[in-house]
Amino acid sequence: MLPAKPPVHESVLDAIGGTPLIRLAALGAGLAAPVYAKVEFLGIGGSVKDRAALAMVLAAERDGLLRPGGTIVEATSGNTGIGLAIVGRQRGYRVIAGVADKASAEKSDILRAYGAEVVLAPTVVPMEDPSHLYHVVRRLAEEIPGAWLADQYDNPANPDAHIRTTGPEIWDQTGGRVTHFVAGVGTGGTITGTGEYLKEVSGGAVTVVGADPESSIYGGGDGSPYFVESIGHFVHPDTVEDRWPESYRKEVVDVMEQIPDRESLVTTRRLAREEGILAGPSSGTAVAAALRVARELGPDDLVVVLLPDSGRSYLSKVHSDAWMRQWGFLEESQDEASQARRQGRGQESQEGEPQGLRPLLDGAGPVVAVHADATVGGALETLDGAPGGVAPVVLARAARPYGVSAIEVVGSVSRDALVAALADGSAKPAAALGALVGPALPTVGVGQSVAEARAALGATHPGVLVLVDGRAVGVLPRTALVG
Ligand code: PMP
Repeated sequence: MLPAKPPVHESVLDAIGGTPLIRLAALGAGLAAPVYAKVEFLGIGGSVKDRAALAMVLAAERDGLLRPGGTIVEATSGNTGIGLAIVGRQRGYRVIAGVADKASAEKSDILRAYGAEVVLAPTVVPMEDPSHLYHVVRRLAEEIPGAWLADQYDNPANPDAHIRTTGPEIWDQTGGRVTHFVAGVGTGGTITGTGEYLKEVSGGAVTVVGADPESSIYGGGDGSPYFVESIGHFVHPDTVEDRWPESYRKEVVDVMEQIPDRESLVTTRRLAREEGILAGPSSGTAVAAALRVARELGPDDLVVVLLPDSGRSYLSKVHSDAWMRQWGFLEESQDEASQARRQGRGQESQEGEPQGLRPLLDGAGPVVAVHADATVGGALETLDGAPGGVAPVVLARAARPYGVSAIEVVGSVSRDALVAALADGSAKPAAALGALVGPALPTVGVGQSVAEARAALGATHPGVLVLVDGRAVGVLPRTALVG
């Protein structure tokens, strides 16, 4: 069969949207219901957010919020900024993107390449903190004359873009056969707009499935941070009032699938290896959810899962074996390539060190964590249960059902330091820990070697924090690692 005639566009803006559906033949093998991926990275800016960017700029011009010579400001994990940079520069505006400092460096580089200015700001601080990205972009929009904050989180043009484009495309491409639509929720624009359209046009027959990182608050998680970028909702433990975006109308979602990071990341890697689709980690979350749903469906059903962006922005993250191992998502024994390598050098592995850190962790108790606001006396009590008298200091005030995420570790504390400070009178039991909080313990993935753990320990750290799936599972004190 000849492929359909590719379109000819007079402007880059006309090349936004119109993405293909590709059947997931390998990952969907054996399932009665076909699963099709809507591959958004085949759009001009490389992500689903081009659609929202174009719609928001056109609406702002129409409403007189954006005038010639104006400046577009936005808080963005990168992709909306890229869309705004393309659309904004084409239409003659200055573009400033406020990017979360945990987003991948490649995203900022791409923004600059398109001519946007990048401002980095933290998001792992309470919402009330003036340094939070949310406030940084608002200040910029107020201070710069003629500036307009795109505000994808609360801008109705964001979900509208999907009511007008993504939804109709999917309905058209499947000839009205789609029964399930699966997408992650960041601002919620994609799932809200596409979901609303598909429900309306199908007379309510389409089921809308949200794909959420397991600990994200959208799907009922504990709000602790996770490793999949751009979707879900993290809540800092000190945030007083949490707000969900208006672009997310949760009534449109029928089912929420909570996907652990490991399942998302492994699925992202399988997409590349088995389907030839190099996508970002939020695509892995969505596909993992789609596969869970499809397992329960029959031949009359048809699942469409939206893949928001390309894996090229994450070559140093999910698509890197070293990164996966560093955060405890990959262990030597689970990695086919290294298994083959080990078999090829059987001798070395016999006389070498134990594979990974699991054997050293056996028998270690659960991680004992001290809150950053603890008193010296309180911390000492907590340290009673800590192996080697060392504990990570974390942001979380209460125990998190999903455990301590490596992302929320801010320091470390040791019993010896506290006892010494109390003895020489430089600290009182009721005082805050303050300067007694030492640097964060180095983290090592459970699949890393003892030699790597020793290297991370260096000359000064009292121990290392061992991670499984990005969560702290144990502290290996210095004594456990060196003689
Ligand atoms: N995945 C990626 C890679 C994204 O950039 C975004 C947008 N932040 C999403 C998923 C979520 O899309 P939406 O904001 O429409 O919910």
